[in-house]
Amino acid sequence: MIIVFQPLASKQDIQHVVEKIEQLGFQAHISKGVERTIIGVIGDERKISREQFALLPKVENVIPILKPYKLVSREFKKENTVVNIEEVKVGGNEIIIMAGPCSVENEKQIISTAEAVKKGGAKILRGGAYKPRTSPYSFQGLGEDGLKLLRKAKEKTGLKIVTEVMESDDVDLVADYADLIQVGARNMQNTRLLRTLSKIKKPILLKRNFSATLLEFLMAAEYLLSGGNDQVILCERGIRTFVEYTRNTFDLNIIPVIKQLSHLPIIADPSHATGKSDLVMPMSRAAIACGADGLIIEVHPRPEKAESDGDQSIRFDSFSQLVKDIKPIATAVGRSVN
Ligand code: PEP
Ligand code: MN
Repeated sequence: MIIVFQPLASKQDIQHVVEKIEQLGFQAHISKGVERTIIGVIGDERKISREQFALLPKVENVIPILKPYKLVSREFKKENTVVNIEEVKVGGNEIIIMAGPCSVENEKQIISTAEAVKKGGAKILRGGAYKPRTSPYSFQGLGEDGLKLLRKAKEKTGLKIVTEVMESDDVDLVADYADLIQVGARNMQNTRLLRTLSKIKKPILLKRNFSATLLEFLMAAEYLLSGGNDQVILCERGIRTFVEYTRNTFDLNIIPVIKQLSHLPIIADPSHATGKSDLVMPMSRAAIACGADGLIIEVHPRPEKAESDGDQSIRFDSFSQLVKDIKPIATAVGRSVN
């Protein structure tokens, strides 16, 4: 349930309620809005009643949250969450573009790509150092050497870094290098990993699993928020359907649906969603038109030589064109790029 305070509630009034919540064995999640503070009471709601809180000093209202996801819901927080990746803000008016290769391969590849995507309008450089490959015989990523190359690219360009972590044991290491930590589609329901990430002070990019329902996606995000990390960006990257022409089916519906049901930002990944470089541009336009807060795009200097996901990677010139193309669409939906 949500406890809404009157605008003039003092620190002591709020602390009093927090203590009561904790005495009952529940968790209190405080959210300070511009006008008033609200507390999310997390635990088995059948064991408490609204009457236990409704008459406490400066409590204005007590509202049950009926949905299974609580802290990620719009009922809990009306205003959009803005995720701060240092000075880069995802979920505000500006559309944020993340771009780079699927995998970090070598210094020349990552530095040249970083420079090109920065020039083209990206704010965040993507690149995998730990790769979740279907085949154990495929390139698995450079590991920490890849992270070091990402750091070099950051020092050269000023771009922020997003990179994937696959295991709980690697979280501290990856967090040392990344500004935004990616949970890949295959790990969306790795609850141990989610719990570990919920305890760190780094924003998380949570990609939807290719077979996850809306509810499963939001419940995965709930793991992060309920553990204490509310800096979460969702990402739609395509789901598996009977369609085999494209690698996945881009579920654009989920973008406006998430906007209705959650306050968290959501970005789109047209590269994995389509699997085809020539579809990345039109589907980027579509994602912005339906309300995505950003894009994550695979870009490679020579896609035909890429160690992973070459078929869906676009070249530098196409990336610059893509950013130009989405600008008028962003303006049409009341957003900006750059
Ligand atoms: C990736 O971003 O390269 C990746 C492996 O993504 P996903 O987890 O969405 O497949
Ligand atoms: Mn990839």
